[in-house]
This record gives sequence, C-alpha cells and structure tokens, in this order.
Amino acid sequence: MDNESILNNIKSDIQSPNPDAIIIGAGFSGLYQLHSLRNLGLSVKVIEAGSGVGGTWFWNRYPGARCDSESFTYSYTFSKDLFEEWEWSERYPGYAEVVKYLNHVADKFSLKKDILFDKRVISAHYNENINKWQVKTDSLEEFECKYLITAVGCLSSKNIPNFDGLDSFLGESYHTGDWPNEEVDFSDKRVGQIGTGSTGIQSAPEIAEKAKHLTIFQRSANFSVPASNHPLSSEFKKYIKENFEEIKNTIQSNTNGHFFKFSEQKIFDTSEEEREKIFENAWLNGGLGFRACFNDIAFDKKANDLASDFIKRKIRKIVKDPQKAKILTDIDHAFASKRPPIDTNYFETFNKDNVSLVDLKLSPIESITPQGVKTKNKEYELDILVYATGFDAMTGPLLNIDIRGRQNLKLKDVWSEGPKTFLGIQVSGFPNLFTITGPGSPSVLCNMIVPIEQHVEWINDCISYMEKNNIDHVEATKGSMDYWTKHVNDVANETLFIHAKKSWYYGANIPGKPRGFMPYAGGMARYKAICNYVANQNYLGFKFSNSDKEETFVPSKISVDILIKDLMTKKNNLNKKE
Ligand code: NAP
Repeated sequence: MDNESILNNIKSDIQSPNPDAIIIGAGFSGLYQLHSLRNLGLSVKVIEAGSGVGGTWFWNRYPGARCDSESFTYSYTFSKDLFEEWEWSERYPGYAEVVKYLNHVADKFSLKKDILFDKRVISAHYNENINKWQVKTDSLEEFECKYLITAVGCLSSKNIPNFDGLDSFLGESYHTGDWPNEEVDFSDKRVGQIGTGSTGIQSAPEIAEKAKHLTIFQRSANFSVPASNHPLSSEFKKYIKENFEEIKNTIQSNTNGHFFKFSEQKIFDTSEEEREKIFENAWLNGGLGFRACFNDIAFDKKANDLASDFIKRKIRKIVKDPQKAKILTDIDHAFASKRPPIDTNYFETFNKDNVSLVDLKLSPIESITPQGVKTKNKEYELDILVYATGFDAMTGPLLNIDIRGRQNLKLKDVWSEGPKTFLGIQVSGFPNLFTITGPGSPSVLCNMIVPIEQHVEWINDCISYMEKNNIDHVEATKGSMDYWTKHVNDVANETLFIHAKKSWYYGANIPGKPRGFMPYAGGMARYKAICNYVANQNYLGFKFSNSDKEETFVPSKISVDILIKDLMTKKNNLNKKE
C-alpha cells in the first residue's frame, strides 16, 4: 500500500455520518466505487441492505445459481495483482464462489470498515440550499453527502406476480432472488416452480435431483444452450495468470464485454453441411458465445431463424416425450432477442419420471390456493412453491427508493413514461447523483463487470475533475437526456430485440410498467467511445454549477461514427481517456 492509500484509509476510518460520498449497494459496483473514491481522498460510506457483500449474488442463492459469464472474465481488471492472485475453480462460477471472491476483494482493499450492513436506503432527497443529498435508511438513520452514487444492480428488485390468493399457500414459498441462507430441504416434497427464464432453467435440474416431484409451470417457452461447465485445467489457469493484458483488452474492446469474438462468416455464405458443423461445434463448446458462431445471427432475422431451428431440433432430440418437446419448442421470439439462458441438463430434466411440465399458455394460473397452484384446468398440490419469476429490472431498484432532486422533483414522476437518462449515468434535475449501470447504458447486454468498471471509472474521473476545479454540482442537461433517451430507443429499433417486445428489457414483465427498451443496444465499445468523447469535451452535455451555458450533447450520426471509427482503429485507445 502506498502512502497516499494509507492516508486515505486513515481518513475514511474517521467515522462521520456525513461523508463526501454515499454509495448504495455493496456488490461489484459499490465495492469498486468505494475503493476508487477513497483513492481520490474522499470520505465514503456504503449502505447495504444485506448482511454481507455480494449484491445480486448475496440474495440469489437458489439451487443451481451460477454466473453465465466465464469466470476469468467475471473478474475485476482494475488491479493486475488482484486478477493474478485469484484462482477460479470452474468455467462458470457458482454464486458461493462469486461471494467468496467479493469478500476477498473487500478484505484485500479493507473495504468493509466503510460499509454499513443490514440497512436499506428508503429515501434520498437533494437539498439545494446546502447542495447535499439527505439519505435515510429503514432504521431511520440519516446521512448527508455531496455525491450520491447508486450501485443497486439491474436485477435486484424481485417480481412476484400478484396472483389471486398469493398469501393463502400453506406450504413454503421462495423467490429465487431472495433465497434463504439455510438449505431448503426438497427431499420427499412436491415442488412447483413458476418461471423458465435464465434462473428457472438453472434451478429446475437441481431441484429435480432432490424433490419427490417437480412441476414446472411454463408460460413462455425459451431457448437454451448447454453451458458446458467444467473445472478449469491447470494449463488454462496458467494462461489466465500470464495473459492479463490480453484478456483485459479483449473484454474491454468487445461489443458485449465477453471474451468470445463474433465469427466473420455469414450464415448464407456457408453450405448446409458446413453450417451444421459450425452449429454443432458451437453447441458443444456451449455458453453465451453460441450466438457468435456466425456474424449475422444476432442481427439478421433469416440467419437467426436457422439458429433457432437448430436449437429446436436439439431440444426435440433431447426430450423423449413428444408432447413435452412440443411445449418446450413452441417459442415465440427470435433467439437472443430475450436474454439467452445457458443450462446444465435443463432439457434432460424433462426425461425424469418425477418431472412434469404445465403449459400455462393452454391453461393459465388462476390462483394460488392453500394447497398449491390452480390453473384453468387443474389444481396442483404442492409442499414448496418456487417463484423463478424474475425482476422489476433496471428501474425497479432505483424507484424502490424515494429519490427526489431539485424542487422536490420525484424520480418516479420523471420516469412515469419510461426511464430517461443521459448515458445511463445521470438524470437531469438530480445534481451529483450518479447511477452505475443505469437504464440507457449497455449494462445487462454485457458481461456486467465490464460496464461496471467503465461506469465507476467514468464517475470517478468526473468527481475528480469537480474536486480539482472546485465545482459544486454536475447535472445532465435536459436536452442531452432527451436526446439520449430517443437515441436508446432508435438503436434498439434497429436490432432483433424488437422481436421480443414482451421481454423484461422492455419492462413488459411487470403489469403497468411503461414499455420501452431500457438498456443501450449500441454495443459496449461504441458506448465507451461516446462516454470518453463526452468527458474529453469538458463533459459536453453536462452542466456544472459554474458554467453559464447549457450545451446539449446532440452529435450528428456522422460525427459519432467518425469518432468511433477513429477510436476503434487506434490500438487500445478505447481503454483510456485521451
Ligand atoms: P425472467 O427472465 O424474467 O424469467 C421469469 C420467468 O417467470 C419467465 O419464464 C416468465 O414467463 C415467468 N413469469 C413471470 N410472471 C409470470 C406469471 N404471472 N405467470 C407465469 N409465469 C410468469 O427472470 P429470470 O429467469 O430471473 O432472469 C432475469 C435475468 O437475470 C436474466 O435474463 C439474466 O439477465 C439474469 N440472470 C443471470 C444469470 C446468470 O448470469 N447466471 C442467472 C439467472 C438470471 P414469460 O417469459 O412468459 O414472461
């Protein structure tokens, strides 16, 4: 530890209810933001609802919970030393290993002393007279700070559908995103699972191994590709340790933050035989990289149809019962237009004698009863009910907090017709509030660690600029926010995501939630280039307290494209501000 860091740690040891900055959440984003702001010499506190670090991973402890990003890319890259000393055991880390990693990080950088656990932030109001955010927790403690940074995650506000009779069930019920710490005993139990998204596809095979009977309630059929998880070999572990720069550069310059690269081959340039071979190899290799085996699957509907057809053929081959196979392949969206799940033995699970499948399209759930689940056609008696029903994504975690900006402006009113942000980082009317991986940024479309590190570093640079120049507040202009919000929707309209307008990306899983594509679909590399451009233009599109003009960020398409091309062609330029 250098002298500066020691001094910073001493400063942050001084307990103050009014630090310079408050961060909400102690997951990947919050921990790195705490470490970074401390290094600027600021006093910082993190307020965390859980009793440990981990964020999403602290709560999602359901059976089979495992990260879909490959472990060696699901690691911080801000510290080479940290990257090289940590050793992942498997291709995809289970939730417990991720939590262990985050505890290691927190201990290595002495972060826990600045984290207040078991406290949920319920409100944050900006007081213009003193230029402070006034933050209140559920234990009614109050704090004041100049900078407020939300690190609340994109998928942390659980969604339990408001079924009739929801509370009447006499058995045990659990949401996957709020799973108990103690082991749930499924043995000899009749278990029902509602939901077949990425989560349900991970939990079902594990539950089926233990339960007396598992009934899976499926509303929409889903694609899934084998994860092909396996322990990492000692050769690969050695490769990871010796190739930090290459790994970092690849994931940070890729469009989705993963290590896999999109093939240069177009699907219709290959013969049927060649195409089948490429699909087979991609299927065997498994994982989220399946969609990259041709360069047009994710963009051209006709190419996508061929990939979809390949996966459906695989499902039919795996699932022995033709009726179940029919229900599982009745998929209503283009492959990867919803977040594509990856699995370990999901479709194989339906060959087990103790597993049944209910098609809710034919027979929707009418109510939850004291005994179990009642659909239009039948009542299913259950001992345990598992809700794998997803999240009020992206906006939910922020709107659960009563956030008010200038003149008592409520975030929920500004977002009444859908989220509006500039770059997913700031909302006009809410000075000095930064939203890590907020709506309007690539976030959930990427390997999350990459957008998290990029946002934390951008926010840190912005705050450092303010501190050096004695600036009191920074705020996105309304023009920039309106421009960016439209841009986010325009970009989504050019992608295959429009083929799944019922997805959570559009907010469609929550009744009454405004519909609109929430993440930025323009790609991580392009997005990062825009953020760097904005910062290098003295934060074009943001207004500082001492600036007398309101410049809105509205570059022409041509200027952005030239800028991006220029940045992309200069090696490693995307990784630093010029
Ligand atoms: P999800 O994708 O939103 O899936 C929720 C499931 O519940 C869907 O099958 C949905 O059906 C069903 N459902 C919701 N409301 C229902 C209702 N009223 N009646 C019947 N069924 C209902 O949620 P998720 O599976 O938790 O995944 C959310 C996201 O978390 C993923 O897309 C992914 O980004 C992330 N995730 C990541 C990992 C990882 O990296 N390891 C693992 C799990 C999740 P419909 O499809 O018909 O709406």
